Amino acid sequence: MSKQVRVRFAPSPTGPLHIGGVRTALFNYLFAKKHNGVFYLRIEDTDQTRFVPGAEVYIMEALEWLGISPEETVGKNEKFGPYRQSDRKDLYLKYADQLINSGWAYYAFDTPEALDALRKEQEAEGKTFIYNHTNREKLDTSLVISTDEAAKRIANGEHYVIRFKTPVDETLHLKDIIRGDVKFETGLLDDKVLFKSDGMPTYHLANIVDDHLMETSHVIRGEEWLPSMPLHVLLYRAFGWDAPEFAHLPLILKPVGNGKLSKRDGDKLGFPVFPLEWKTEEGVSSGYREKGFFPEAVVNFLALLGWNDGTDKELFSLEELVESFDLNRVHKSGAKFDPEKNKWFNHQY
Ligand code: GLU
Repeated sequence: MSKQVRVRFAPSPTGPLHIGGVRTALFNYLFAKKHNGVFYLRIEDTDQTRFVPGAEVYIMEALEWLGISPEETVGKNEKFGPYRQSDRKDLYLKYADQLINSGWAYYAFDTPEALDALRKEQEAEGKTFIYNHTNREKLDTSLVISTDEAAKRIANGEHYVIRFKTPVDETLHLKDIIRGDVKFETGLLDDKVLFKSDGMPTYHLANIVDDHLMETSHVIRGEEWLPSMPLHVLLYRAFGWDAPEFAHLPLILKPVGNGKLSKRDGDKLGFPVFPLEWKTEEGVSSGYREKGFFPEAVVNFLALLGWNDGTDKELFSLEELVESFDLNRVHKSGAKFDPEKNKWFNHQY
């Protein structure tokens, strides 16, 4: 690998860490160690409505218990920090402004009611409403009104957001280390919100600004973020930055139905979905630690839920996992538990 490997685990502190998140952290850790790189932890807490007190500490403790602590994180190494996004919030507006000035973003003033009415009107005509070029002339934005007028309205305290101006019609041919070639049509994407009037960036803007500034070489994250990849690649392009490489990991699925394994599924099957105990006013959810599992066993179990070394070997120490880890051997399909056979298998969609 030519450039220094720097990878991150970037959870939002919205609750206890789920084992799917732990596995993402683990694969980042293994990849960093394998390539003499750096594994860092960034706390993505820009959505204050979803913030849960205690979650950040829980995440740090869980990684420590598992033996996969990051080298750089909040309060640990400030080289590229601060690593908590709410401590960096002043920075993001500057980047949002840069996109406005270069014509890649614009101010939007639409109220939720106005958007809802437009959506309903189009649905009644059998169309799907997309907030993009197909509707821009009907929307209340600085693309329609003048920039001066927009500035006046902002100065008057009017509610606004900054949106990305998605290119009209372009096929993006992208590469994902796990999924291979992936294709996206920009014409189907919404002009996503990048910055909100509460002074906070959205996940998309903060995530790519930080991945750039923190010199992330590879973005290794759950598959639920694959739909965000085209926007992220377009944002890198709009800023004139090189994009990192991407690897989207398959999910740990529910035994029946679709979606991620939930706490309820886990409880039924006897697999906690949390590494450590999580206490709330409603009660206590047990974790692997309190149930008497060894962290080495949990690490081994999670690694094999999404990866194998090409042999039948089933017991790996953390050092052995580092030695054998290869993103090209990560499964493409999600892991699903078969209660009848009492074992995990790779679910084919
Ligand atoms: N903050 C996102 C999350 O909670 C991170 C996604 C990413 O790694 O880009 O999962």
